[in-house]
Amino acid sequence: MYFLSTRGGQKVTGAQAIVQGIASDGGLFVPETFPKVSSQELNDMLAMNYPERAAYVLHKYLDDYDYAGLKDACERAYSQFEGNDAAPLVKMDKGLYILELFHGPTCAFKDMALTLLPYLLREGCNICGIKEEILILVATSGDTGKAALEGFKDADGIKIMVFYPDDGVSKMQKLQMCTTGGNNTNVLAVRGNFDDCQTAVKRIFNSNEYKAELKEKGVLLSSANSINFGRLAPQIAYYFSAYLDLVSSGQIEIGQTVDFTVPTGNFGNILAAYYAKQMGLPVGRLVCASNKNNILTDFIKTGRYDCHRNFYKTMSPSMDILISSNLERLLFEISGRDAALIKERMENLSRNGVYMVTTEELKRIGESFYAGCTNEEQTVECMYDFFCEYGYPLDTHTGVAMNVAEGYMSACKAEKDPKDKTPLPPMVVVSTASPYKFPQDVLYALTGNDVKDSFKGIKRLNLLTAMKVPKNLQELRYKEPRFKAVADTKDLYREVLHFLEVGTDGIVAEGTAKKRAPRKKAE
Ligand SMILES: *Cc1c(COP(=O)(O)O)cnc(C)c1O
Repeated sequence: MYFLSTRGGQKVTGAQAIVQGIASDGGLFVPETFPKVSSQELNDMLAMNYPERAAYVLHKYLDDYDYAGLKDACERAYSQFEGNDAAPLVKMDKGLYILELFHGPTCAFKDMALTLLPYLLREGCNICGIKEEILILVATSGDTGKAALEGFKDADGIKIMVFYPDDGVSKMQKLQMCTTGGNNTNVLAVRGNFDDCQTAVKRIFNSNEYKAELKEKGVLLSSANSINFGRLAPQIAYYFSAYLDLVSSGQIEIGQTVDFTVPTGNFGNILAAYYAKQMGLPVGRLVCASNKNNILTDFIKTGRYDCHRNFYKTMSPSMDILISSNLERLLFEISGRDAALIKERMENLSRNGVYMVTTEELKRIGESFYAGCTNEEQTVECMYDFFCEYGYPLDTHTGVAMNVAEGYMSACKAEKDPKDKTPLPPMVVVSTASPYKFPQDVLYALTGNDVKDSFKGIKRLNLLTAMKVPKNLQELRYKEPRFKAVADTKDLYREVLHFLEVGTDGIVAEGTAKKRAPRKKAE
């Protein structure tokens, strides 16, 4: 299978798409066609365990990879998850389920892909005959950074550097990232919000001058951000798995449609669900849930994507995003794969911060998507009510999703003919983080109590909910941060060169921290 750039400039193999990360024209790689999965195949997949299901879906796209190798890699990736199922589906009520994607090494759904990406990348280099050292640059709103660091730490021939918005991630997320070990890792705080951070990293990726300079040093840039197809592909698998679990537990029969609600930021997770639908999985509506940064809600409702708006810092920081990169892949599909049009719109977006789709396109989006958003108070209230009703603690991101899902289901009920007694399709709400990853906010939502310390929050939450504390979060308490530096967006490339030359082991972080004046809170 070949992959095309959404902006028309490139056509490559799966391995190339993963190694390169982003197309040379700035577009994103999309599969040439969507491979289909028949109901017979779904039936066959019922007997498979999670790693086998994942390998099956992956190989549909990555047919240049060895199938046995993929199976083996999935087995190893998902054996790092706590419990015996990497993506368990939990029944809350009749027709309401939670897909728990937070049992991996960093307790957020990013682990579903980032435990596997190192294999996909290294094997991709082998397939393409690439000998250079790989340098992964990651802009993170919190969760990707740690998941990528864990995935890539001590990987042969690969270095990884993570940039996060200073003051834009939770304390726990910061501690997770800055305590990472490994002799090939580096972490840097960047002044500004996530969009500033992501834009600055993209600038490095899009600069031919930088790339040429790095190539001379024997270094090839790659990305572990959700624009990389190697991130997207493993995410498609859990939508299949959730569906199959509904079938095998007798909740539905093969062919019946299921709706999903996804707490959304960069549009990667929900796009994977859309890809699953394109492959033939009986998915009904995809509900795109946003927090107060509701640019996607407005877009899906009106067809106008407009970045001229306030940026809010919320309790669900991984969704505090104004420019959702993966939306470009959806635009490509609903435009009828019009690369010239996508190129024009993306140029408009970066120049003017706005673009619009046609009425026809908006109608097509509406056939697959519904969108809603919540403010902080509504999220807290939903988390509280949900815990009272089901004894189940939702993390802050999943709280946003649950609130929007409930709104969607009531709207559907209200629209239905009262004489129509057929139930709504089952709703699966995708849970993207462990509540222990945001312990203070979750504790506040459930009890109204503010605690100053994350680990106190974890302890209190554990007493309240009796939910097991993930080992990796518990252990953080005894670790010292290793990376402490803060940089301006304009200096990121310089920092990259410094990392390549001086190496890691805290040298970069300590060196830069000493040279610079301490950051002032009021800036
Ligand atoms: C990354 C993340 C999201 C947003 O996912 P996208 O794929 O960027 O839309 C939501 N919740 C959590 C906890 C995350 O880490």
